[in-house]
Amino acid sequence: MATYILPKFGEIRFSCPHCGALAHQYWGATMVKWLKKDASPARWGIDELKKVYEEQKELDPKERFSDFEKLPEYIEAASGKIMASRHREDPYSHLIYQLDVSKCDSCEEIALWMGDKMVFPAVGPSVFANQDMSRDVRKLYDEAGAVFSTSPRSAAAMLRLALQVLLKELGGKGTNINDDIDYLSDNGLSPQLVKVMHSLRIIGNESVHPGQISVDDDPSIAEAMFRLINEVIEQLVTRPREQEELWLMLPENKRKPVEKKINKTEK
Ligand SMILES: [Zn+2]
Repeated sequence: MATYILPKFGEIRFSCPHCGALAHQYWGATMVKWLKKDASPARWGIDELKKVYEEQKELDPKERFSDFEKLPEYIEAASGKIMASRHREDPYSHLIYQLDVSKCDSCEEIALWMGDKMVFPAVGPSVFANQDMSRDVRKLYDEAGAVFSTSPRSAAAMLRLALQVLLKELGGKGTNINDDIDYLSDNGLSPQLVKVMHSLRIIGNESVHPGQISVDDDPSIAEAMFRLINEVIEQLVTRPREQEELWLMLPENKRKPVEKKINKTEK
């Protein structure tokens, strides 16, 4: 996997929350152009806009709407996309404090920042979830991803819950995380992974009870949790699966003698 750099307010280079590329970021302030008194923001239907565009295309350029050039992006935006216009306008406008925009140099998509937190898009810090993650764990993992930018603390609590579900899938009882980690530890889990699981447990706990670790002050802690959950699945689910798949690719007459030997030593 390519290097991942957590999106951070004011940084000019980080992994894009849209395309995942480690790319240069342009920053912009947001300005508001107030509408007339009692006016509401316009929202055009996408089909309506497409129809108008087709009609306008047939006309002599001199007879087209003044914002004909903007119709393609009106259509794009009408699909619900939050995006920056490619057309410059110079109206009277007023700066919105504490709301800034970053734009990815690679895909040109924008992210919105409120204070120093990214509020759009709502994605986790780790774009890729391990493909062997079960549906139940994945649901919690994605939920954690959706709240990560606004509340790393909630993400940490959610990931602790994901670990609890994962432990149950790995043979634990699913009632007490500590007992389940002990159970796996007694059954040959490496000390390194025991530490990883306790880290996830402890950080998750501290995020819901006042403790010594402040996850909101240091989002990199919650960010690490996303990677660690993936690491646990990689080692305990993906690798055994790949090893077994490779083993089953061998001809049976080659496997049999080895399996016999293994069974003997296990007895
Ligand atoms: Zn991008």
